[in-house]
Amino acid sequence: MSNIHDMKYLKDKVDELKATGLYKEIATLDGPNEAECLVNGKKVINLSSNNYLGFSNHPRLKKAAIAAIEEFGAGAGAVRPIIGNMKIHDELEELLAEFKREEAVLVFQSGFNCNAGTIQAVTDEGDLILSDELNHASIIDGARLSKAKKARYKHSDMEDLERILKEDRDKYNNVLIITDGVFSMDGDIAKLPEIVEIAEKYNCMTYVDDAHSSGVLGQSGRGTIDHFDLHGRVDFTIGTLSKAIGVVGGYVAGKKASIEWLKNRGRPFLFSTALPPAAIGAIIEAIKMLMESEEYTDKLWDNARYFKEKMSTLGFNTGESETPITPIIIGEEAKAIEFSKKLFEAGVFVSPIVFPTVPKGTGRVRCMVTAGHTKEQLDRAVEIFETVGKEMNIL
Ligand SMILES: *Cc1c(COP(=O)(O)O)cnc(C)c1O
Repeated sequence: MSNIHDMKYLKDKVDELKATGLYKEIATLDGPNEAECLVNGKKVINLSSNNYLGFSNHPRLKKAAIAAIEEFGAGAGAVRPIIGNMKIHDELEELLAEFKREEAVLVFQSGFNCNAGTIQAVTDEGDLILSDELNHASIIDGARLSKAKKARYKHSDMEDLERILKEDRDKYNNVLIITDGVFSMDGDIAKLPEIVEIAEKYNCMTYVDDAHSSGVLGQSGRGTIDHFDLHGRVDFTIGTLSKAIGVVGGYVAGKKASIEWLKNRGRPFLFSTALPPAAIGAIIEAIKMLMESEEYTDKLWDNARYFKEKMSTLGFNTGESETPITPIIIGEEAKAIEFSKKLFEAGVFVSPIVFPTVPKGTGRVRCMVTAGHTKEQLDRAVEIFETVGKEMNIL
């Protein structure tokens, strides 16, 4: 009999992943996350980060992080309520509330934690959580932790959303409609004006996860609520501090009462240590930079349009994206993976995204253009795409 501690049952599962081509080898960055960087020791153009604004290695953020360490130390020392809470945590929340034009904000250790903590705390037995079928994994997990009933509506399908409400709204106390603001695999924007209208018609609450729109959409990256001018009409707005903001963390913005409740019942807030001073210092600097100037978001959009246009002119299928997320849809899973490998050999790092993350037969590589790329780097990337695309009969 085999020893249970040899983890054979896990080895078997890993072997199965490898046999079906679904095992993911993780590459390693040999330095900071930059537009051009060393990956597994090879210099490549990086089209695979969420570092939309090039903030993750920005001198101003690094300087602010070091200053925060000097003043507050390397770690917060405790969970916030039993006083890992420092002056800079409060300062960041006030700044974010001003930035988002909301009453109050609560910061969590990550966007994932924020969804895991918030959804379960603001819903209860007798409620319904109504979620877009393509919502992020952290929303799905957050909903699983709630005692409320769950239902999914078809992706951005307003008729389906309304059908469910027409049939079932009366059976529940509160209904919380949850959507990603921007969907990460296709780059399409949620139909927020319609969702808000339907929510108001059926007396439902709304919850928008702006992870891929914070720092990207709206004035200076204030997010989808600002983009659609829906201030005051969305109950919970989630943002991440880990993507465009360049550091780590997540937050929920909304009414003062919501934030006060979450300070008492948001489990990751209560039971997991506060973000370290270095992270908070750098984030405060990043938000200030966005409030000072639109140059970063303008550069991001300029680069995104430039790259997307060149790629679709070449004949690549760039899907339905409305944001800097630029999928290059290939189709067959193995071919998308092969495409990514060949691109890496030729000098571009770009992640393959295949089933089950996206529907079968829509395998792709997902290009993330950032403000940090130069036009010269983007031109070189396009050239490499063209060469490899022709070589593989994709073009
Ligand atoms: C990335 C992402 C998160 C997680 O954010 P982290 O700060 O990286 O934990 C949550 N929601 C959505 C929609 C995301 O894309």
